[in-house]
Amino acid sequence: MLAARSGVANPFRRRSAGDPGAHPAYTPGVDVERKIEVLAGAAKYDVSCASSGSRRAGEGTGNASVGGICHSWSDDGRCISLLKILFSNHCIYDCAYCANRASNPVPRASFTVDEVVRLTMEFYRRNYIEGLFLSSGVVRSPDHTMEELVRVVERLRVDERFHGYIHLKAIPGASPDLVRRAGLAVDRLSVNIELPSEVSLRRLAPEKSKDDILRPMASIAGGIVESRAERRRHRSAPAYAPAGQSTQLIVGASPEDDRRILDLAHGLYRKFGLKRVYYSAYVPVNPDPLLPPPEGPPDILREHRLYQADWLVRLYGFAPAEIVDDARPNLDRAVDPKTAWALRHPERFPVEVNRADRDTLLRVPGIGFKSAARILATRRFAALRAEDLAPLGIVLRRAHAFLTCGGRRVLPPPPRAVAVDDRQPELFAAGCCP
Ligand code: SF4
Repeated sequence: MLAARSGVANPFRRRSAGDPGAHPAYTPGVDVERKIEVLAGAAKYDVSCASSGSRRAGEGTGNASVGGICHSWSDDGRCISLLKILFSNHCIYDCAYCANRASNPVPRASFTVDEVVRLTMEFYRRNYIEGLFLSSGVVRSPDHTMEELVRVVERLRVDERFHGYIHLKAIPGASPDLVRRAGLAVDRLSVNIELPSEVSLRRLAPEKSKDDILRPMASIAGGIVESRAERRRHRSAPAYAPAGQSTQLIVGASPEDDRRILDLAHGLYRKFGLKRVYYSAYVPVNPDPLLPPPEGPPDILREHRLYQADWLVRLYGFAPAEIVDDARPNLDRAVDPKTAWALRHPERFPVEVNRADRDTLLRVPGIGFKSAARILATRRFAALRAEDLAPLGIVLRRAHAFLTCGGRRVLPPPPRAVAVDDRQPELFAAGCCP
């Protein structure tokens, strides 16, 4: 199924004798294709490394919604394709929101350590992937599962001398020793926070505790800090999770508002130095009285707004309280968070594009880091004119109402480019908001 639907040939397709593509080094068991089908499909709900949330209608080449191979970004900003699988979808836990929970009658499968190692190496040698994203249900116990995952990544690094990217999901509740061993073998190590509050965790994932999740997060954060300090002293010191840690949070399975979610994310960034918090709109896969009724598609717009707000907090220096507060605990669905903030602060606008400092420019909707830098660089030589703004990368549809140029209001772009709803110029901008 992986081959047919993702457009990626499966190197373990059984081949006829004399097939020039036959690989003599590895003859997989007859059930490996079935395992790939079950365990790549089961991994697709984890968005902390994914091109998920995108589905195109009609016939064509490629498929961004099927599991199997996903894309991620390495520490140096490269986009890399990863083999994304679960080690096992057997699970002793019964989290209400999860397709793989113990009480669900879904097809089950588990890889062996050897199978995951060989799959990764064979896909890598054939240039289908540049790395591995590995997670798992909890088989027997957190330590038993984590031990198997650690054996996979250590085999890859030590026996196979695999230098590709590895993102491993640590199992909540696993012992610190195993987490430490994993961190020394992988590029990114992460633990899913899952839900925005302890109350919701107790209600929907009763076998997991806040401590089971935060303890390994703290241990990973400590390992990264120690390793960086050690590597500054000795360049040959081993790197510990050099691509950092991330986490995933399910949005909409529990009643917490956006303020609660952003406060939590902000705390995680500060306390554990996370690279990213991934927000995953709740996808109803189980009928369960503890969950919201399965009405309509996942709330992708809310997920998108949270990413935009997260971007503002993480990179643009906004405090969460500037974006959501007691009076507005949820993000405005009609406009992006930066525009919503600007509309609430008319006293800060318009901004004169020829005089404003960088921080002020960055608060203008439609101006991002690159366009702010270009504004500052260009105006060192000459005063900017209104017609200079669009070529500098300013999104005039969003910015024009908040700017003056040479003391004059900036005119909106021609009507063809203006969105129907002039409060919301760009509902689904590519990437997060500048
Ligand atoms: S522990 Fe993970 S795999 Fe198991 S039921 Fe919970 S979310 Fe699903």
